[in-house]
Amino acid sequence: MLPEVEINRVLVVTAHPDDVDFGAAGSVALFVDKGVEVTYLLVTDGDAGGNERTLDNSGMAELRRTEQRTAAKAVGVTDVRFLGHKDGLVVPSIELRRDIARVIRQVRPDLVITHHPDRNYNNVAPSHPDHRAVGGSALDAVYPDARNPYAFPELLRDEGLEAWTVREVWLTGGSTPNHWVDVTEAMDRKLAALQSHVSQVAHVEGFVDFVKTRFAAWADQAGFASGHYAEAFQVVPTA
Ligand SMILES: [Zn+2]
Repeated sequence: MLPEVEINRVLVVTAHPDDVDFGAAGSVALFVDKGVEVTYLLVTDGDAGGNERTLDNSGMAELRRTEQRTAAKAVGVTDVRFLGHKDGLVVPSIELRRDIARVIRQVRPDLVITHHPDRNYNNVAPSHPDHRAVGGSALDAVYPDARNPYAFPELLRDEGLEAWTVREVWLTGGSTPNHWVDVTEAMDRKLAALQSHVSQVAHVEGFVDFVKTRFAAWADQAGFASGHYAEAFQVVPTA
């Protein structure tokens, strides 16, 4: 794995508002504590989500962008970017790879965190089609697109974006995690981030208990002491 001291910038690429907060906000909070710069890139605005049916789609998109910015602040992240693709309709595509490669070259992260592109047969929720499409395209953007100056030459020609090699990717939501981060001391901030998504979680009874149970189970799987919470990732070396 990449030594912690070599992680100075992290880019988190997700499909929807709230994905990063379920999968990785505790780990993000701990990175921010160490002075790491973290950027969020959201492929959609999550305009097909929510419980409130009086809003039209455009209202939901703006509301969810605002909720994600609030959630980001709860863990110390202020750089939040949106690509504006349509929620529920994301497919792996050349255009999406280029959009993600562009931000990789802008941010120049050491580590990218994104969705696992494979279907998890133990638990369907992490395998939303948008998640799989974003995870696959983000991995393709990491290798080969962002590091190959001949891929999307317009990024260099028109925007001056030099090739960049991301050295490691952490995948969320997969069935074969191999790295667990103890997020116990960041659990309050992770919960605050999750609860910032008022349109998604305010109506969910027992939400806090649900989250605590789920992340305590990861800690248990990792062999951490009882009363601890963990986030789980599959680490992919990409140097
Ligand atoms: Zn999602």
